Amino acid sequence: MLCLACHHPDTKVTDSRLAGDGLAVRRRRMCEKCGFRFSTYEEHEILNLTVVKRNGAKEPYAKEKLESGIKKSFQKRPITDENFRMLVSHIEQDIEMLGESEVTTSDVGEIVMKHLKEIDDVAYIRFASVYRSFKDAESFRKELKSLDPRSRAPKKQQRTRKNMPRRKNPRFKKIKK
Ligand SMILES: [Zn+2]
Repeated sequence: MLCLACHHPDTKVTDSRLAGDGLAVRRRRMCEKCGFRFSTYEEHEILNLTVVKRNGAKEPYAKEKLESGIKKSFQKRPITDENFRMLVSHIEQDIEMLGESEVTTSDVGEIVMKHLKEIDDVAYIRFASVYRSFKDAESFRKELKSLDPRSRAPKKQQRTRKNMPRRKNPRFKKIKK
């Protein structure tokens, strides 16, 4: 990577450590010519993935779009930048685990909802209400009910979507309502 100060092509990595929960790397770099120090943050990136929208239109996958949709659901909710990054990163992992070069917006939506449900009921219900555009009051009520801890246990056993392994991340503490 070019030096930010003098654009010299050789910079030396002086320190390298895992960030988030190990899915990203933060590196300290030093320019070999002028000695300028800076850091970089590297995380994996989804490339060559096409998203098929409800109307059949296709567009290249864009992380920013995913993030902005999720961010709206977390408005005024207590989530740190670090946890937000981890959340997005876990969602992207699941998208990649579908192993497809094309995914539908509803594939992505279901994955997002699965993760939101694990960490914040309010964000989940906001996202779900936009995404599923609840047809009627009854389906909305059912969804709210599914968040009730007393009705949660049996629901979990039904979750077998596309034989995806369900990853429990102990680092995520559920945010209280
Ligand atoms: Zn330099």
